[in-house]
Amino acid sequence: ESDRLRLPPWLKTNIPTGTNYSRIKDQLRKLNLHTVCEEARCPNIGECWGGGEHGTATATIMLLGDTCTRGCRFCSVKTSRAPPPPDPNEPLNTATAIATWGLDYVVLTSVDRDDLPDGGSKHFAQTVQEIKNQNSNIMVECLVPDFRGELTAVEIIVNCGLDVFAHNIETVEVLTPFVRDRRARYRQSLTVLQNAKKFNSNLITKSSIMLGLGETDEQVYQTLTDLHSSGVDCVTLGQYMQPTKRHLKVIEYVTPEKFKHWENVGNDLGFLYTASGPLVRSSYKAGEFFISSIIK
Ligand code: SF4
Ligand code: SF4
Repeated sequence: ESDRLRLPPWLKTNIPTGTNYSRIKDQLRKLNLHTVCEEARCPNIGECWGGGEHGTATATIMLLGDTCTRGCRFCSVKTSRAPPPPDPNEPLNTATAIATWGLDYVVLTSVDRDDLPDGGSKHFAQTVQEIKNQNSNIMVECLVPDFRGELTAVEIIVNCGLDVFAHNIETVEVLTPFVRDRRARYRQSLTVLQNAKKFNSNLITKSSIMLGLGETDEQVYQTLTDLHSSGVDCVTLGQYMQPTKRHLKVIEYVTPEKFKHWENVGNDLGFLYTASGPLVRSSYKAGEFFISSIIK
């Protein structure tokens, strides 16, 4: 225990309760919808589900099962070389549940499915189309894997009718081999983001960086610059938290002031928005940020 850093006060949060939150929770149970927000016990759930100034409620839904073909050293998702096949009814059932829920902005994400020939891209696309069929006002973000750099999969996603294309770079270049699965590569992620924009220039693209893994300021700055020159529109930065003792240790708890600094750097570089803070996750208040950036 002695070699573990003490949790700073700004990270001590309570899981929200309250009537609005419990009502949504009950509703979700009936819909049989599994949100990352609940499963990861995300501290932002009150803010995301409640919507902000624009009342845009956001939630994150996990598609394609709970078992990943990769094993990143920061992530506690189960790993297997051969996860169960995708549920063919998932796209329609998910869309119906989301439309019934009355969400404004949904983030669809998944484990990496390197076992599937299309990496699960068609399953994503089908889910987006079902959602838009049921309610075209729901804004959809897909937070996708790198599809091993297969650009056909990227093309399927960017042309399915989604609003935002997100893929997380996760960390700086030199730390990538130690942090992400060895099949994930920094340059490959940049290529995916760059091509998403190239295939569909109307899309908003987005990426996310975790801090506190031992990266230097210069490396963070370089990563922001790389993302910006790959045509990425929006960026988020948040604190890495060790999910279990078997995962990578936190090297540093980055202060709220430092996160504010990166927000200013992001704004100066010209991103549409930069969300940066200790508790920020890639989907943090995504609907609110999206709406305010298009109004801007
Ligand atoms: Fe976790 Fe994604 Fe890495 Fe799989 S690819 S281990 S879900 S971070
Ligand atoms: Fe859900 Fe993401 Fe918001 Fe957390 S940050 S509550 S996972 S939408």
